[in-house]
Amino acid sequence: MSEEAVLRESILSLFRSHCMGCSGSCCSAELEDVFIAFDWEVERLPDGGKGLVVTDCRPGMPGCVKHISFEGDRCPFSGSRTCSLSLDTRPLDCLTHPVYPEVTGWDDNRLSVSGLRVRKSCHRAEQISGDNRLLGAIKEFWDRQVACISPEALGEWLSDSEYLSEENTVLRRF
Ligand code: SF4
Ligand code: SF4
Repeated sequence: MSEEAVLRESILSLFRSHCMGCSGSCCSAELEDVFIAFDWEVERLPDGGKGLVVTDCRPGMPGCVKHISFEGDRCPFSGSRTCSLSLDTRPLDCLTHPVYPEVTGWDDNRLSVSGLRVRKSCHRAEQISGDNRLLGAIKEFWDRQVACISPEALGEWLSDSEYLSEENTVLRRF
């Protein structure tokens, strides 16, 4: 198994104690855009994301980040208790939600993860922001992603996440 696959497994497992018993509002239509995804992540979804409403995050502008929503109450990939997507096809937004990287170094394209933001809308945001093992695994995971994804694409992804504003998140610095 690749190191990235091991990290994905580890993150999923560490989230379990927080997400068990939660209604999973993060996979439902409670939010207008349920998740965002790079276009290469959309292509990897079963049937190319059939059943999802996929729109450009910057209509009329070149870009690779998509808003994903759906017609019904819940994401079509949501199973009875968990996401039915395999871990290697689960978009980054879904894998580490509600935890997102705080990225610095944009001026000279030497990007690094200086902290993590936890969205307050998650029912367990307080517990998650205090879970050092989980945050450590997510930090390691995002360190790798930041080294692989182009700064332009990552910048688009992060700037589209309007829900990452200071008032909507708790910031944990590293
Ligand atoms: S809202 Fe938070 S605790 Fe509930 S399933 Fe989503 S990530 Fe887990
Ligand atoms: S793809 Fe999976 S984790 Fe993401 S919103 Fe749908 S069910 Fe939830």
